[in-house]
Amino acid sequence: MRKVLLAALLSVSALPALADDCATAIDGNDAMQFDKKTINVPASCKTFTVTLTHSGSMPKQTMGHNWVLSKTADYQALAMAGAQAGLDNDYLPQGDTRVLAHTAIIGSGEQTKVTVDMSKLQKGSDYTFFCSFPGHFALMNGKFVVN
Ligand code: ZN
Repeated sequence: MRKVLLAALLSVSALPALADDCATAIDGNDAMQFDKKTINVPASCKTFTVTLTHSGSMPKQTMGHNWVLSKTADYQALAMAGAQAGLDNDYLPQGDTRVLAHTAIIGSGEQTKVTVDMSKLQKGSDYTFFCSFPGHFALMNGKFVVN
């Protein structure tokens, strides 16, 4: 009886994270990969929070990751420009309006997050998230879908 109750409690405690549609978590690793290719966002969300973790063992100087959101049409040019901007600027051109949201660059074992202001985005438009660390965007990208 006790075990059944405990199991029930555990499953209930796992629910809130799933029930929260206006937030997600994503991880980057040493193989230059995100663990998600698509992030779906309900259009009803006023803000959307993305928590980024780095499950690899390499430091941010050599295998840093961030999470950057832009229009899909902008992301490749933005990633190229970002590669020139340096680690101190999170590999993003400063003040660039193509950046809709971004986290800091993190390394092994670190965690960071960003809250996206959904009033800047439109349902049906094409958005991409990516890592702007030099050379990473080709592998580390995915679709950010508002629906
Ligand atoms: Zn990266």
